[in-house]
Amino acid sequence: GARPDEDLLEGLNPQQREAVTYRGQALLIVAGAGSGKTSVLTRRIASLLRGREAWPSQILAITFTNKAAGEMRERVEQLVGDSARGMWISTFHSACVRILRREAEQFGFTKSFTIYDSGDSRALIKRLVKQHEADAYGLTPAAVQGKISKLKNELADAESYARTANLSDPAERLFVEIFGDYQRELQKANAFDFDDLIGQTVFLFRAFPHVADVYRRRFRHILVDEYQDTNHAQYALIHELTRPVVGAASEPYASGGMMIFEADQAPELEGASLTVVGDSDQSIYAFRGADIRNISEFERDFPGAKVVLLEQNYRSTQNILSAANAVIGHNFDRKDKKLWTDVGEGEKIVGFTGYSQHDEAQFVADEVETLRRGGLDYSQMAIFYRTNSQSRALEEILIRAAVPYKIMGGTKFYERAEIKDALAYLIAVANPADEMAMRRIINRPRRGIGDVTIETIARYAADEQITFRDALANATSLGVGPKIQTAITHLDAVLVEAAEIMLPASGEVAPPTSVADGLNVLLNKSGYRDALRASKDAQDEARLENLDELVAVAREFARNNPEGTLLDFLTEVSLVADADDLDDASGSVSLMTLHTAKGLEYDAVFLTGVEEDLIPHRISAGEPGGPQEERRLFYVGITRARKRLYLSLAMTRAQFGEVSVAMPSRFLQEIPVDLMHWRQSPGDVNSRGGTQSRALNARRGFSGGSGGGRYGDDLVPLPRREKPAGDLSQFANRIPAKVRDNGDMVLGPGDRIRHDDFGEGRVDAVTGEGAKRVAHVRFDSAGAKKLLIKIAPIEKL
Ligand code: ATP
Ligand code: MG
Repeated sequence: GARPDEDLLEGLNPQQREAVTYRGQALLIVAGAGSGKTSVLTRRIASLLRGREAWPSQILAITFTNKAAGEMRERVEQLVGDSARGMWISTFHSACVRILRREAEQFGFTKSFTIYDSGDSRALIKRLVKQHEADAYGLTPAAVQGKISKLKNELADAESYARTANLSDPAERLFVEIFGDYQRELQKANAFDFDDLIGQTVFLFRAFPHVADVYRRRFRHILVDEYQDTNHAQYALIHELTRPVVGAASEPYASGGMMIFEADQAPELEGASLTVVGDSDQSIYAFRGADIRNISEFERDFPGAKVVLLEQNYRSTQNILSAANAVIGHNFDRKDKKLWTDVGEGEKIVGFTGYSQHDEAQFVADEVETLRRGGLDYSQMAIFYRTNSQSRALEEILIRAAVPYKIMGGTKFYERAEIKDALAYLIAVANPADEMAMRRIINRPRRGIGDVTIETIARYAADEQITFRDALANATSLGVGPKIQTAITHLDAVLVEAAEIMLPASGEVAPPTSVADGLNVLLNKSGYRDALRASKDAQDEARLENLDELVAVAREFARNNPEGTLLDFLTEVSLVADADDLDDASGSVSLMTLHTAKGLEYDAVFLTGVEEDLIPHRISAGEPGGPQEERRLFYVGITRARKRLYLSLAMTRAQFGEVSVAMPSRFLQEIPVDLMHWRQSPGDVNSRGGTQSRALNARRGFSGGSGGGRYGDDLVPLPRREKPAGDLSQFANRIPAKVRDNGDMVLGPGDRIRHDDFGEGRVDAVTGEGAKRVAHVRFDSAGAKKLLIKIAPIEKL
């Protein structure tokens, strides 16, 4: 008869079918972008459930973002219905939080631990760096934080690192001390940082095999998407979870973090089946410790593993795919795989060079509107950039053009000071041991409590061996003035009152709690809202609205999670990772960094800022493998597009408070010329008529294509290089050495000038300063223009 999952296999190609139906211990699916890796994972889960080969609770699927997890769950539910409940489909971080909430008490934490995001960690590290006066040794908080994170991703701690470090170097010694202190402070605060969530779970499993066994028995099928971006700690976690469970009679013993099994011990339960999917060409997190070797060594780690290759791309048109193939082909040290599609050539890739980033943004906004009028929904369009700061220029123009947009990866809301304050209040209630939260709220709103008082409280707590929070309850013993004493007592009382509303009275069973109500009590009785209301600052109005929004988020959370506790709420909020957004982006254009774009797809994609120093980013130049990783990032960006791809850049870009001349990215040259169509400037103040842009293009190494006269139809970005690879200096040789710099030109109202394209004109006014000086010029025939003096092709008459 028909397989129970026959309909699940419908439309799949033979390799995809094989990947869905293979039943063995280990399966590796390697394939390029858009070949159906994620779809296959989803169907594989559905097929296991449909055939009753697994209970939902036996499935653990790991995705890269919470958003991806939500989508996968939804799709599985569509395929198998409600029986999908109880599956764990989540990110590594969320899965580990769930495990740690259950098991934290095994190793000195409580289940109400706090999760420190990167800003929280930074604040703590900053304090420690200051305490140790480590700045003098070049140990900036950022450097220390980066190094600690890297070590944690390799499962190293302060002690293990100290054994390998060169301790005769005072900077190394200091670092080890700070690392150790940092860890002790986290423990004292009953907190984990982001990296700990994974690392400590691995530690837990290794140190307490009986705990690990619980999860090994539970999860019989483990599936991991985007495996190329797993770091060592995540890899170790997977390894721990897929070990066989050994009979209870013959307990293995732990030695130096390794489990030792007696030779004749037969497993009582074989290891879980493991399916991983990935694409080494899309590995873009090496800077966070991701290790492509996790893919290339899979077959060694899991002997007998089945490998399935997928080669048909179902996402993009041939033109887009050809561009992607050509670009990624410039990376060496990779297995060549050619993606193909049968959907046809499609549109050419559109290139655009703006005069400034505003000009570029204007082009994007205009084009978005054109596509919209052509029937494409805003939600099917996305705008990518390399760095967050690039979004501002785009946002300004989109707002002006009334294009609805949404910034994905918008931790922005949760980074706002008032939101962090409100969350710190909630954390202070949930986890009274969290000293950092207490320090944050103790003088917000202003209560006249300064650093001196805070240190007094900290010292009292240390002397009495109680927590900072408990010290507040003893305000009378602190030896502080009566006013401050009253303020402290009041704050303590507010926290107690809120705790009564939000926390279970005792024991395990949580009574119905209301985070939203508790939050209102905290914000009102602490005087936080009053202080904002009393303020004359217009910004504070917006801050009050943001707080209301947070209350609304809490109510929404309660609706979706009737049993949800304060801790659940805080967990969810702290896991809104870089790549996520709370609500969906329906009806708006999505803006995001290239890193956030991974795994997603859109009908139309605008990849902006395709310039040297942005992509490849200038910090990558000095990193080993840096430019290659940037090329993979560019590849990820291109392959998100289904039907239309736009690559745009600006000739000048204001960054770090300076306007600088930008050069086209080397990656543009790697795209075959015939796949692209270069458009002319749509008519920004500086480039109306296009001729000026052509002049600038030409000066910067752009050359007209065939026909010459019809600029705009076939302008080619750069002369093709003979050699496929090369460094930037070689590239720079092809750009005319002298880029105009009129930085020193003195102009005043009434001065006459000549412009390369617009001819002669008269200066009306000069505004701005330094590199951003702008001349407002009335040209004799070309009309009024605004020109950036530094780079405009002008001379004074
Ligand atoms: P990425 O590497 O970007 O994560 P992926 O390999 O995970 O991509 P999917 O997102 O699973 O690819 O699939 C890309 C698109 O192709 C999706 O829209 C998916 O629905 C579609 N697709 C996958 N397989 C098929 C198929 N056999 N027939 C038709 N469409 C398919
Ligand atoms: Mg995918």
